[in-house]
Amino acid sequence: MSLFTPPLNRDMIGIIAGHYQQLMDEVREATRQAGREGQTVQVVAVSKYVDAPTTACMAEAGCRILGENRPQQLWEKTAWFQTHAALGADRHPVQWHLIGHLQRNKVRRTLPLVDLIHSIDSPRLAKSIAQSLEELDLRCDGLLEVNITGEDAKTGMPPEVAREVLESLIGASRLRIVGLMGMAAQHASSETCRRQFASLRNYRDAWQQEFDHPLPELSMGMSGDFTEGIAEGATMIRVGSRLLEGIRG
Ligand SMILES: *Cc1c(COP(=O)(O)O)cnc(C)c1O
Repeated sequence: MSLFTPPLNRDMIGIIAGHYQQLMDEVREATRQAGREGQTVQVVAVSKYVDAPTTACMAEAGCRILGENRPQQLWEKTAWFQTHAALGADRHPVQWHLIGHLQRNKVRRTLPLVDLIHSIDSPRLAKSIAQSLEELDLRCDGLLEVNITGEDAKTGMPPEVAREVLESLIGASRLRIVGLMGMAAQHASSETCRRQFASLRNYRDAWQQEFDHPLPELSMGMSGDFTEGIAEGATMIRVGSRLLEGIRG
């Protein structure tokens, strides 16, 4: 039964479902190879490349966590889903994660719509989110985005800044930091990706102990390097293009 009221493109759903099944098989295999049987790796299906009806096809194909990198697109798609979701038990079939930069003037409008923010990338943004949650009387989970490549062009905070933000948020009741997010350098070798992901895990392990604050989640790995992410302990991977091969939306 369709979760959505407008008819969706069945062929498209079939293609995406095929990619999703294949991806889940590879995720399972990578998890086994890493000696992590039985541990869950959540797949955040990145829908930023396609429009709202195609994003609905992703949900229909089995993707239950959708990731957007631009707040405005996230607003538009959640509104479309609200309008078109079929009534009944499946009214809220998906979770939305923000994976890209959040401008401070977009914080208030975004917070009520998201289940997790992967991309807390500055002390000012962290402060702004915490303050808006207070004003809106909401709670939210977040990840600190850490620069693990050492390149200026990459997003994310230098590790020492991320550590300070974490320290400032220990005991914060509304914004709960549950882990770290990091991106490996583009076009890096498999070994380099693994080394960079391992550094993120090491920061997690160190800070978790230093602040006696649980940081269970590691969001690392995309279409080209999710195997490396899983090998180094990723609990979430963010995959877009792999799921959307052959799709134009
Ligand atoms: C686009 C994007 C992804 C997904 O990348 P693919 O290579 O298409 O899988 C993951 N994380 C972030 C932050 C992104 O912006």
